[in-house]
Amino acid sequence: ERADLKATLLEVNKLAAKYFYAQLKSESGKTAHEYLTDRQLSEETITAFGLGYSNKYSNDLHKYLRAKGYSDEIIVKAGLANMDEKNGIYDKFWNRVMFPIMDVNNRVIGFGGRVMGDGKPKYLNSPETPVFDKSRNLYGLNRARTSRKSYFLICEGYMDVISLHQAGFTNAVASLGTSLTAGHAALLKRYVGEVYLTYDSDEAGTKAALRAVPILKDAGVNARVIRMDPYKDPDEFIKNLGAAAFEERIGKARNGFMFSLEMLECSYDMTSPEGKTEFLREAARRLTGFEEEIERNNYIEAVAKAYHVGYEELHKLVVKTAVQSG
Ligand code: ATP
Ligand code: MN
Ligand code: MN
Ligand code: MN
Repeated sequence: ERADLKATLLEVNKLAAKYFYAQLKSESGKTAHEYLTDRQLSEETITAFGLGYSNKYSNDLHKYLRAKGYSDEIIVKAGLANMDEKNGIYDKFWNRVMFPIMDVNNRVIGFGGRVMGDGKPKYLNSPETPVFDKSRNLYGLNRARTSRKSYFLICEGYMDVISLHQAGFTNAVASLGTSLTAGHAALLKRYVGEVYLTYDSDEAGTKAALRAVPILKDAGVNARVIRMDPYKDPDEFIKNLGAAAFEERIGKARNGFMFSLEMLECSYDMTSPEGKTEFLREAARRLTGFEEEIERNNYIEAVAKAYHVGYEELHKLVVKTAVQSG
């Protein structure tokens, strides 16, 4: 029963993706198509990612899927339409550029839809359904898995992934409008031992990177962090500075732990002896988190060097802190 339902939902999603794609290429999709070319996506990229357009009429997809023999119930279960007493059934996505979300086996499991311009919400995403588990899927993984790189680039948005792929960074993936979960980390671990977090430059992006580092570490995935400043995100960075500059940033990526310490500095007055001492106590507390002695000592060495303190003194502080916290 449940396997049947899943298979049907995947069928419906696939039809919807084809429908959106055809709309984008048709006369009614002209504005949407222009929107994508204005954002410098090539025809090849649009096709490769199966981008589409959901019509201005609020019941188009529903009618199409009904004509193909699918019930209202299935269409709603697929997250493609909503139903309520007042309005009956109506399409969820309406006048948006559509990003089909594929699982690793290239099956369409959901959609993201972007408003063209400044409307709200900027992105509308499919709800979780029996085939769409946001915490266990990553946008672009179906393509990134064959990239032959030993690491993935993890960014925030659909457009980041697409821009990066178009610029030759075919190892880019994104978590789907949620923060990175242990489920994502486990999924990543199947393919790579290392990831480069390339989140947005704003505070939300920085916080998201800080939260992701320990989650990845717990799954055995080493994390590095790339900063996109002075641009907002990888998409804008690439558009303004190009692929070579991005490659350079990859080369300058910072170790996740050292990045988290750099961010921690903001909470202390590093110019005063008290402030710096408090900071180092917190750093020592965090260093106790490395259970393997060699790894821990290597990090103690890195921190001692970066903050101009003696290795022996810092090592003693870490041991003392570890004993105190049991
Ligand atoms: P664009 O470049 O098209 O403006 P972006 O990817 O830079 O988009 P962000 O605001 O950085 O947009 O958001 C990152 C990701 O978070 C989006 O790609 C989307 O998956 C998700 N997201 C953003 N806004 C919303 C929203 N209002 N509701 C749900 N998800 C959202
Ligand atoms: Mn963002
Ligand atoms: Mn962004
Ligand atoms: Mn963006």
